[in-house]
Amino acid sequence: MQIFEMMGKNDHEQVVYCSNSESGLRAIIAVHDTTLGPALGGTRMWNYATSEEALNDVLRLSRGMTYKAAVAGLNLGGGKAVILGDSRTQKNELLFRTFGKFVDGLAGRYITAEDVGTDVRDMEYVRMETKYVTGISKALGGSGDPSPVTAYGVYVGMKACAKEKWGSDSLRGRKIAIQGAGQVARYLCEHLYSEGAELYITDIIDEKVKRILETVKAYVVKPEEIYDVDAEIFSPTALGGIINDDTLPRFKFEIIAGGANNQLKDENMHGKKLMEKGILYAPDYVINSGGLINVSNELEGYRQDRAMKQAEGIYEIVKKVLTISKEQNIPTHVASNKLAEERLRRIGGIRKIYSGYSTFSGRLGELSTM
Ligand code: NAD
Repeated sequence: MQIFEMMGKNDHEQVVYCSNSESGLRAIIAVHDTTLGPALGGTRMWNYATSEEALNDVLRLSRGMTYKAAVAGLNLGGGKAVILGDSRTQKNELLFRTFGKFVDGLAGRYITAEDVGTDVRDMEYVRMETKYVTGISKALGGSGDPSPVTAYGVYVGMKACAKEKWGSDSLRGRKIAIQGAGQVARYLCEHLYSEGAELYITDIIDEKVKRILETVKAYVVKPEEIYDVDAEIFSPTALGGIINDDTLPRFKFEIIAGGANNQLKDENMHGKKLMEKGILYAPDYVINSGGLINVSNELEGYRQDRAMKQAEGIYEIVKKVLTISKEQNIPTHVASNKLAEERLRRIGGIRKIYSGYSTFSGRLGELSTM
């Protein structure tokens, strides 16, 4: 009964518990909403303390995917899976192939991909048992590294914020502080540098910074100092929870637009505080949806040029979110949730009950449907 109550709280459609003694697999797949299409979302492998903690996480993450896909204009629903275990010591072929069998059993209602604790290799094992998996290598017909597409989406989303804030979307001469010098940041820096922005970068690993400096010019700051940089734009592209009570009072930024997930430590409180401080915040799941756009393109036969074109649409989506926020005087993350819910309601009318991927005949991504 407790599980039904938890599912009912946010209207989850289906939760599947997977258990197999031979492989040691213990996993939960959550399908939150298939109004717009098959539920796509990655598989997280994590050492959860209890199965209840794992259930909570998979319910929260799968719901997040519904919103992300909906606001990105994709014809996909929201789903997610968690495998209970230590990703450093308990991963093997049998585990992921067994998991793949369970995914296959859902006949396309759920499509998986990699997430924290899983990688391309693991998904290739899953692929041996089911076609309902994305995020596999280019050599095997997949989309490979999503970072170039994610970075491009963050870049155009940032430009949309600049347009709103300063009346021009040019980033020439703008001071931009970027937290994290990983895959997404690397491509993002290249776009920003080509446009003539002044960059401030940081990472906890020096080699990552050095690699970026091979292609762009940037000032390097210490990890803790990034929050104090006197820049106009802050781009969190490393880890979540970095907009919090400690960092927020230090911000002199006018815009926050970055690739990291879950940037607001407390969604409601810190989202509201940013608004009160006059800082324009591009909701993370909107601006970093290029990653999802990228893997969703695998379902139609991957082409990076098409994924990039779709990611370009993030500019207009961010503009829409900012307009709703301004008109209704609500924080931007609330505005993006509204936009997602509105699309679910509108399109839900024609796809009330989704009956399986094999019968799905619509296109998987159409930004023009927004
Ligand atoms: P990545 O691992 O390549 O890069 C993250 C970088 O952040 C690493 O270099 C790491 O050393 C650095 N870092 C960690 N803690 C730090 C700290 N305290 N200060 C400064 N740097 C720190 O990851 P990525 O693929 O570039 O992704 C970056 C973020 O964007 C992640 O939050 C990820 O979840 C999110 N994201 C990525 C994609 C994608 O396509 N890769 C898509 C959507 C969201």
